[in-house]
Amino acid sequence: MSKLVPIPFIIAGPCSVESPEQIMAAAEGISKAGVTMLRGGLWKPRTHPGCFEGVGETGARWLRDAGRATGMKTITEVANARHVEVILKYGIDAVWIGARTTGNPFLVQEIADALKGTGLPVFVKNPLVPDPELWLGAVERLSGCGCGLVCAVHRGFHSYGESIYRNSPFWQIPVELHRRMPEIPVLCDPSHIGGRRDLVRSLSQQAMALGFDGLMIEVHPDPDKALSDAAQQITPAELAQLLSSLKMRGNSAPGAEAAAALDSLRSDIDRIDSSLIDLLAERMKISEAIGEVKEKSGLTVLQTGRWNSVLAKVRALAQEKDLDESFITEVFNLIHRASMERQINK
Ligand code: PEP
Ligand code: MN
Repeated sequence: MSKLVPIPFIIAGPCSVESPEQIMAAAEGISKAGVTMLRGGLWKPRTHPGCFEGVGETGARWLRDAGRATGMKTITEVANARHVEVILKYGIDAVWIGARTTGNPFLVQEIADALKGTGLPVFVKNPLVPDPELWLGAVERLSGCGCGLVCAVHRGFHSYGESIYRNSPFWQIPVELHRRMPEIPVLCDPSHIGGRRDLVRSLSQQAMALGFDGLMIEVHPDPDKALSDAAQQITPAELAQLLSSLKMRGNSAPGAEAAAALDSLRSDIDRIDSSLIDLLAERMKISEAIGEVKEKSGLTVLQTGRWNSVLAKVRALAQEKDLDESFITEVFNLIHRASMERQINK
């Protein structure tokens, strides 16, 4: 595999390989949906000991045989050099590096060394923390090791606070990875982002709309009975329906009419961006002047009452203009932070 084909590249299969019958039933259902690669975890990273931790080496043969019987390539997770040895022994076709491993440069290097010269494709999941550098670093380590094609997989990020997602998507991070390494294909794993089967379809569609190169989706012949990640797995029939309903977009040059419309709209955006910068610069000058007054009169830089009233005002304005309140809050938090830093450091 020197290039990712076809696009979208679909990897599907259970969270864990559980038995020869389970992986074969999954493979038979999935292959009918036009999937290219069959996934199944052999070693499962679990938060608590005592949970199902995967069938280990025993399952490698089951996975390989299910893939071969249904004409699909196979892929599993490796977290150390011994796992790589096992998958090479059984002829598994590709590996992924899990989120918990990507954040550990020692392990990534150990895996890169074990894969040296094997030509095996590697799919690198994002680390748990939303730090593009850790993800980029792991991709760099593997790209330089003489394995096969290296791809990235966006599976969402750990975050505090309420969220409908198991792992928040923070789409700007895979977007940044793609900007920095445009030659690396990026897939989306909607199952681990959503954590719930009813979110998988819309997340898959969002990824396709953004231009991701493929999807990794957890599929189990009997999801409710799955030994790991039961809530997020879908059936092969649901996968087939999901894939046939996806609206695809291309990245080729648009027609003349669309190109002209885009040019004109983009020049409007450029004009507005430049006004935004002018306004921010003007705001910052005023903020500096306020800083001087505060300093002279012995007032603290942070004036919580004033900050609360600024926030309330911009949120009300945002509502009037139909702008997302949390977006505007985030923008003004950044502006306020920069403003305070300017006043502290003068
Ligand atoms: C998985 O794919 O089953 C898995 C454990 O993934 P992640 O490393 O993204 O949690
Ligand atoms: Mn899983």
